[in-house]
Amino acid sequence: MTDLVIGAGLMGITSAYELLKRGRAVTILEELDGPALGASYANAGMLTPSMSDPWNSPGVYKYLVKSLFNPSSSMRLRLNTIPTLLGWGSKFLRYSSEPYFKAALKDNFNLTSYSLTKTKEIAERYDLKYCRKSEGTLSIFNTQEDFSIKENLYKSLNKMGLQCSVLNPDEIVSLVPSLSSISSKLYKGIHYHQDESGDAHLFCKALLKKFLELGGQVKYGVPLKSLTIANNKIIGINTDSEHIVASNVVIAAGANSPKLLRAEKVNLDVKPAKGYSLTINVDGVSGLPALPVLNDAMNVVVTPLGNRLRLVGTAEFAGFDLSIDKKRIASLFEMFKIIYPEVASQVDPDSAIPWAGLRPMSCDGKPFIGATKIKGLYINSGQGPLGWTLAMGSANLLADIMFDIPTEIDARPFSLLRAHRNMSM
Ligand SMILES: Cc1cc2nc3c(=O)[nH]c(=O)nc-3n(C[C@H](O)[C@H](O)[C@H](O)COP(=O)(O)OP(=O)(O)OC[C@H]3O[C@@H](n4cnc5c(N)ncnc54)[C@H](O)[C@@H]3O)c2cc1C
Repeated sequence: MTDLVIGAGLMGITSAYELLKRGRAVTILEELDGPALGASYANAGMLTPSMSDPWNSPGVYKYLVKSLFNPSSSMRLRLNTIPTLLGWGSKFLRYSSEPYFKAALKDNFNLTSYSLTKTKEIAERYDLKYCRKSEGTLSIFNTQEDFSIKENLYKSLNKMGLQCSVLNPDEIVSLVPSLSSISSKLYKGIHYHQDESGDAHLFCKALLKKFLELGGQVKYGVPLKSLTIANNKIIGINTDSEHIVASNVVIAAGANSPKLLRAEKVNLDVKPAKGYSLTINVDGVSGLPALPVLNDAMNVVVTPLGNRLRLVGTAEFAGFDLSIDKKRIASLFEMFKIIYPEVASQVDPDSAIPWAGLRPMSCDGKPFIGATKIKGLYINSGQGPLGWTLAMGSANLLADIMFDIPTEIDARPFSLLRAHRNMSM
């Protein structure tokens, strides 16, 4: 009998591949017409153990409250979505306490580091083509105040094993010469050596091709409608037109995952956080950067992906709305002009391709990976802003759990049934 994986995004494709590799027959069901057309389509392309910090950091509530009155805020809460966020939102805020944040940072760092190793292994094993770059990422800061906000975080991560160097403006320019025209405005930078980057959509397509060659199957245009359960065990799923029998079902449907579990009273604390990207073809453009550069204070990143640059910024709690706000896109391009004035001057803003996607955000900043209370029903979801970084690691944990073999890192912090032991911290 087959295992079914619901969703052909980063989590679905990597999970399906790892199950197949361990000897299962696996079929992926995807409601859209191709692979990785949801959140995994045009993300910022960074694989970043350096960003293992959950978004619900101490003090996040002040930021969110302010954002209600500032439409251009980089992380924004929309007033009309507050009712839909009540239960999840109160947990999101409660989990932002200092002790919980520190514990979650460590858990996430273990998983991001493990995941990056697994991503590199598979990229090299199959020579996957996805505009991969291994030069790290660079965070730049214009003021001492901006830098000091990140100082504690990078020092904590450094103690956990993250390699990074603090750079002065001259060192920044020798690493990324295209920043020379703004060097007088730079205060410091942090180069995270181990981070990587690459196009998640191309990665998904390349890994899916391998999965199919190895005997896996995928069906597009097939939305899961409901699960069939008997005696607390999964026996299959229902689409609009058929019942499909399955031994195991993995829900890897991104921000949609909670909806698919609600009828079975499996509560998954995941909500969508919308983000925008702008992809620019830079054929013939000179002075291009070789690695992703982030301006933390502006909350924008510019990632080189082959003959394209991708600009990404902003997070909005706006429900499942995927409409493109032109002002957000215009402001992304304005930030691009501030970081790379010379590169931006060679680019026609109208040729840039805007996109919006929904990060599946968990209430406590860590993904949900593993078994549910229903036998044979598993989850791999809630990776939020780190889903590309976490995909291969999450898939390996999930597959080992399903095969009941020891996981290579501690999987308990990511269990769906994790005791909310830290809530009192
Ligand atoms: C703007 C932006 C920038 C980002 N940048 C980064 C980054 O630089 N680094 C990083 O690590 N992460 C980044 N992320 C996060 C990362 O992209 C996501 O965490 C990741 O793509 C989530 O993958 P997923 O497979 O869980 O969800 P998705 O990619 O959304 O896949 C879920 C799939 O399930 C399908 N589905 C849903 N319901 C059903 C159903 N009923 N039946 C069948 N199929 C269904 C959907 O169609 C979809 O294809 C970014 C995200 C955004 C939005």
